[in-house]
Amino acid sequence: MEQDAIVRIRDLNKTFRTKTNTVVALDGVSLDVTRGEIFGIIGLSGAGKSTLVRCINFLETPTAGTVEVDGRELGALSKKELLEARRSMGMIFQQFNLLQQRTALQNICFPLEIAGVKKDEAEKRARELLGIVGLTERAEAYPAQMSGGQQQRVAIARALATNPKILLCDEATSALDPTTTRSILALLKEINKNLGITVIIITHEMAVIEEICQRVAIIDSSRIAEIGTVEQVFTRPKSAMAKQLIYPNGERDRLATGKRYCRIVFDGNSSFEPVVSNMVLECKAAVNIMFADTKDIDGKAYGQMILQLPEDERAASRALAYLETQNVHVEEVDNDAYA
Ligand code: ADP
Repeated sequence: MEQDAIVRIRDLNKTFRTKTNTVVALDGVSLDVTRGEIFGIIGLSGAGKSTLVRCINFLETPTAGTVEVDGRELGALSKKELLEARRSMGMIFQQFNLLQQRTALQNICFPLEIAGVKKDEAEKRARELLGIVGLTERAEAYPAQMSGGQQQRVAIARALATNPKILLCDEATSALDPTTTRSILALLKEINKNLGITVIIITHEMAVIEEICQRVAIIDSSRIAEIGTVEQVFTRPKSAMAKQLIYPNGERDRLATGKRYCRIVFDGNSSFEPVVSNMVLECKAAVNIMFADTKDIDGKAYGQMILQLPEDERAASRALAYLETQNVHVEEVDNDAYA
């Protein structure tokens, strides 16, 4: 086993047989998750993501192939050993899955009770965990009295109760609004950094991967289409599925919408801020700064900047015309290089 792989999956296959048909949910999946990283698994609905994550903790038994977690092959363990191995993995879900009749504190105590921890000790640990997830004040609240984000925080605390080495997150932010999603992702990042827990995130949203993952596996129709660092996959997607996820409207469309780009060269005759902000105000045109390498020396700007001009042709022309009246060098550039 590679020294730093905490999860090592080889040639995993999972086939579901129902009365009427056979579904191949995973087909020849191999991947390593490095200890301490935040690893993303992304794919469209039905691609096999949930099945994959459920095979990592053996909630589903693979049809073929092996899963090693922290050096132990799960398929070779006794029932008792498997329970132990599972305790080293916490899991959170899209729908939180809290017990409705129990308070936040009691929900977090639940896995500790199952593990045979004494009541007062369990409660002490649960309060500590409530602190970690920022919910000290809500110990006595029931799930129905909490927001989605708060319920997911309780679920995270519950997943951490048994001191897992890995946290499996199955579409954990898919039921949350964007602001709450960001705060939950920030919490997962903190947990990863401060507690050293490896985090595996299943999602169908590229934004989630981009926000917190270091590496990502793209799964397409039961198979791994591509694995790489998030940077590699975002800047140079190789597989059709990666391209589809990164450019949902199609790469060709993106380049062919008539978008125009210009380069502005600052040579010390103007200051950088007013040129761009006045252009936006004067022309009522929003621009994107695609690239900037500028220096401010005594209030004068040096360097260059690439702007993406507004989609609307008239607004784009107004913006260019305005820039030409300023003391900067402006030229329109080919969009392929910057899109
Ligand atoms: P995802 O999480 O990417 O949406 P899933 O892993 O849930 O995908 O499902 C992958 C495929 O396996 C789908 O075609 C799904 O219908 C099928 N599947 C999942 N679980 C079962 C099951 N228990 N019985 C039969 N088919 C299943």
